[in-house]
Amino acid sequence: MGAQSDPQVVAEFGLYEDAKLQAFIDEKGQKMAKVSHRPDLDYEFKILNSPVVNAFALPGGYIYFTRGILAHFSNEAEFAGVLGHEIGHVTARHGAQQYTNQMLSQIGLIVGLVVSPTVRQFADEISQGVQLMMLSNSREHESQSDQLGVEYSTKIGYDANQMANFFQTIGRISESSGAGEIPTFLSTHPNPADRFTRVHQLAEEWQDKLKLPGYKVNRDSYLDMIDGLIYGEDPREGYTDNHVFYHPEMRFSFPYPSGWLLLNAPTQIQMAPRDQNAMMIFGFASGKTLSEAADAFVQQYGLNVSETNNKTVNGYPSLQMVAEQVNENNPAESVRLVVYFYQDKNNNNIYQMLGVAPRQEFNKFSNYFLFTMDNFKTLTDPQRINVRPEKIKIVNIPSAMTLEQALRRNNMPTKRFDELAILNSMQLTDQLKANSKIKVIE
Ligand SMILES: [Zn+2]
Repeated sequence: MGAQSDPQVVAEFGLYEDAKLQAFIDEKGQKMAKVSHRPDLDYEFKILNSPVVNAFALPGGYIYFTRGILAHFSNEAEFAGVLGHEIGHVTARHGAQQYTNQMLSQIGLIVGLVVSPTVRQFADEISQGVQLMMLSNSREHESQSDQLGVEYSTKIGYDANQMANFFQTIGRISESSGAGEIPTFLSTHPNPADRFTRVHQLAEEWQDKLKLPGYKVNRDSYLDMIDGLIYGEDPREGYTDNHVFYHPEMRFSFPYPSGWLLLNAPTQIQMAPRDQNAMMIFGFASGKTLSEAADAFVQQYGLNVSETNNKTVNGYPSLQMVAEQVNENNPAESVRLVVYFYQDKNNNNIYQMLGVAPRQEFNKFSNYFLFTMDNFKTLTDPQRINVRPEKIKIVNIPSAMTLEQALRRNNMPTKRFDELAILNSMQLTDQLKANSKIKVIE
């Protein structure tokens, strides 16, 4: 399963290119594999370019860390514990289970808001790569992997108590996270406190058993390694500000109605109002010309077209179409939609923007749809184009102070203090020693 699925995972999220970090996880991964219960397997360790805080394994020895989880580790020992846990899933041959509906509604945020299946059919299904990332293990398997994680990380000389501490960070992330974040690492554990206590016990047991001359934490060396790591969403892949969506790479923007949610999924952008039955969906159209794209769309969904207009929208040659999909057996499930196809003359892409609602409710939404569609524009503002992602910056604290004082000293905005406390696995009131290092954002 792993060998077949690995290319999909990599294609979907992309690998995060960082030679130093990659060399580190390879070295520790191979070292740990040798002391594991399946030392002869060919393991591969990869960093995925995703802000989600997650690590997962596929059968056959494929182990993934997101850049999001790497940003949240505060020392090598935390990383080693999670590495051991994931290798544990492989060595204990845990076949991944089905992802849960709860997780689906978190990731399929927008689709989950829309009640009508006939409206939802126009949105992409959750992609294979995301499904794989969402796969979860049973509680028994998780607890067995915790045990193996402690054993393996202790065997290569790390303090497995740090792994328990990282569970607390994960717990804080899932409490504070907005929609769209999916810390599946903890999701199958209804009681993280038990897990925390148990891992501490196991860590003590293994340290007594092996009696190595000291167990490493390696905080500063880990922090130096993640200095400059991209943090959070990468705005180069599209971002929203004040109900306008901007795509700096593809150079377009469009507004969307206030009160609507927007999900920038890998293959399409979905928008929907809360608790109502309508969607807008933006993505690539198939076909080389506007009329080819329109024909393919009509074919795909079996539409009755009532109106077609050629027009120019802010410089884009466009085709606007109003159509219905009629359900003879159940007229209440018929939908009405308006779709625009835009031709981008710079790269020959054809984009489509769809607004769809149940037929009897269409009029309620049509002005919202048209407002978004008629304001699709080329992005020219250099400030909007030249956005850069945020990065982790490691700074030195010259004298003893609290984390809060240290954040102020580094001009971090107050509204992000709680987030930064979690990122540093600390409380704002925690005392830092002179010459210690913390993570800030730049
Ligand atoms: Zn697990």
